[in-house]
Amino acid sequence: MSEIRYDLINDEYTIIAPKRLRRPDNFKTDCSIEEIDTSNCPFCKGHENMTNKEIFSLKDIHGNWLTRVVPNLYKAVQIELDWVNEDLGAFERWAGFGAHEVVIDTPRHLLRMDEWSIEEYKNWLITLKARLSDLRNDIRLVYFAIFKNQGKSAGATQSHPHSQIIALPIVPKNLQYKMNNAYRYYKKHGISIYQKVIYQESKMNERVIFESNSFIAIAPFASSFAFEVSIISKNRNFVSLSDLGDNNIEELANLIQKVIKSMYAQIGVFDFNIIFNTPPMQKNYATEDYFDDIAKIWRFALTITPRLYNLAGFEISSGMKINPMPPERVAKLLRDLE
Ligand SMILES: [Zn+2]
Repeated sequence: MSEIRYDLINDEYTIIAPKRLRRPDNFKTDCSIEEIDTSNCPFCKGHENMTNKEIFSLKDIHGNWLTRVVPNLYKAVQIELDWVNEDLGAFERWAGFGAHEVVIDTPRHLLRMDEWSIEEYKNWLITLKARLSDLRNDIRLVYFAIFKNQGKSAGATQSHPHSQIIALPIVPKNLQYKMNNAYRYYKKHGISIYQKVIYQESKMNERVIFESNSFIAIAPFASSFAFEVSIISKNRNFVSLSDLGDNNIEELANLIQKVIKSMYAQIGVFDFNIIFNTPPMQKNYATEDYFDDIAKIWRFALTITPRLYNLAGFEISSGMKINPMPPERVAKLLRDLE
């Protein structure tokens, strides 16, 4: 039987429709990874001159780079521009000001994230944190999209493992809506939405996949995509990646690795997005209502969204998703209980 479920954090509905899963092994993808010629890969070790000038790198004791950050060659926005706007009556436009950086996650041309070592997970997180902490010093930048596209169905155009950071001077509608929703909930109930969700998930224990001291991995109650996993901070002091100390990064790296390995074991090779839940970083006219209370209403989290099928007309017209995979089953599979 299908169900319409409500997601508290996104204030959004999803239709969970297991009948649309024609076969139980519908999602087992066996797309084998082709051997790729890396001689033209701009992100491989030894090809450093194929990228723009490096912004940041993490190096080992011998001076070899472990991660590199470079400006996106095909950037959507540019940090060099002044942020000026032009009033066109009914319309308004700004120069394309912002930051668009590419994080080369590892020197190795690994096509599967389950083959990353724990050091590679750690270096990746340390680098993302370092870039966020640096970019947020530019008070013009308010919104930070930190994400990873893995595979063509997830929008990746380079096969070498990489992530991206886009920082903008405006807050997109989606995030503004989520912030206002979280603030409203806090004012009404006196606790954060995240605290409520963590409490409920722990109590029901049907969708919890793994847990560590400071983090919990769940298949969200109203998951929009099949096999979606959210990792949420249980520690209320972690609001964004900038708040994690070295120990927390190590703990998080271990948890993400465990989840990713389990996902590959259950799904096979698959394409996915990883999206970090980062609140606005500056107080301005758009964020002033809730900015001083962000630590009370928000939590550090990330979501791994497998891209196993394409979205169609219903999803585009309604914004709602139809998910054929009940999250309770996902949690069991990923805990390896089924
Ligand atoms: Zn490469």
